[in-house]
Amino acid sequence: MIPRQEENAHLGYSDTPVLPDSGYTVHDGTRPQPPTVRFSGPHHVPGDAVVLFGGDSLDGWVSKKTGEPAKWAVADGCMTVVPGTGDIRTARDLGDGHYHVEFRSPAEIKGKGQGRGNSGIFLLGLYEVQVLDNYDNPTYPDGTVGAIYGQFPPLANPIHAPGDWNTFDIIWKGPIFEGESLVSPAVITVLLNGVVQHHAKPLQGPTKHKELTGYEPHDPALPLALQDHGDLVSFRNIWYRPI
Ligand code: MG
Repeated sequence: MIPRQEENAHLGYSDTPVLPDSGYTVHDGTRPQPPTVRFSGPHHVPGDAVVLFGGDSLDGWVSKKTGEPAKWAVADGCMTVVPGTGDIRTARDLGDGHYHVEFRSPAEIKGKGQGRGNSGIFLLGLYEVQVLDNYDNPTYPDGTVGAIYGQFPPLANPIHAPGDWNTFDIIWKGPIFEGESLVSPAVITVLLNGVVQHHAKPLQGPTKHKELTGYEPHDPALPLALQDHGDLVSFRNIWYRPI
């Protein structure tokens, strides 16, 4: 147990019942205060977040395929896919936590369906939350923006118009394995522009294209990846808070 903050006893009550599983009384003033989080910069980044992309450089990002420095373009505080250079990933491993990613589709509309503003956010490099310009652009539902690709359509499509920024907040809890067997599946919560798209959704396994999936054991922390699907999708303000 984290040490009691005895100096705060006056903030609460000591003549109340003891809560199950904690040892604290109801309204116990000595219970540790939640850590304070302040915000910084124009995008209000939580002060304790791990900033994965702050807008200036692709330091910390590498080619998913080769591990060489990422070749996407950086300008005006965002990174943009350079088609043909391939998916990129963080150099570091990341696990359970809150992932915040902002993206923008090109203002100039090109293509339709899966061919318009397609990219993707791959948790652990394996589980894709779809990025797509779905503004008045229908496609198969388990491939729409915010879909768990090939598994679950989102509950809603709150995408902004092409050229405007969108914000994903993704709460990720990875699968748990014991040896070769799955103990509990990955569970994901996704908000796009503040609207819930998935709530504590158990996943079937890593996302696949045109096939079923299933789990195979992997590490709980692996790099976050972004997809080069050939479209000029931009990203900014990417951060992570472990949970
Ligand atoms: Mg995609």
